[in-house]
Amino acid sequence: MSAGNRNVNPERSVERIPHTKSIWLIYHDVYQVEPLSGVPRYAAMYHVSKNNFTQHLSTILSLGRHIITVSEFLQDKTKDSVILTFDDGWKGAFEIALPILQKFGLKATFFITRDFVGRAGFCDHELILQAAQAGMEIGVHGTTHRMLSPVRVRR
Ligand SMILES: [Zn+2]
Repeated sequence: MSAGNRNVNPERSVERIPHTKSIWLIYHDVYQVEPLSGVPRYAAMYHVSKNNFTQHLSTILSLGRHIITVSEFLQDKTKDSVILTFDDGWKGAFEIALPILQKFGLKATFFITRDFVGRAGFCDHELILQAAQAGMEIGVHGTTHRMLSPVRVRR
């Protein structure tokens, strides 16, 4: 195969992807000292301690990176930015991570799973409202959090 005969789909060419140096950190729950008891390992492995989360923010800022929301990224994809998201609506993201974000003067995007709202370990409507009033961005992480993969996870 010659170089001129490569099977390249111009619609999928890398030149069409906007250049960006952004880094996305996708958090779930943030806990004080220990992860919530009763959370299966496949979920808890995405949870971080308060101290580690604080250290992450300090490190990012010490490197001169800007921490922005998803909406801010979509408005300007050219910056060397870091986007922080919190998936599922875990309570620790609101009660533990959010005050730390505020201490640093930062904002993040919280993606809520509708059917998890009010469940043990997850946020309620009041926490969502308080986060929005604090300037955090609220988005949707699905209705039921149905696994779309054909591989079923044993629970
Ligand atoms: Zn999720």
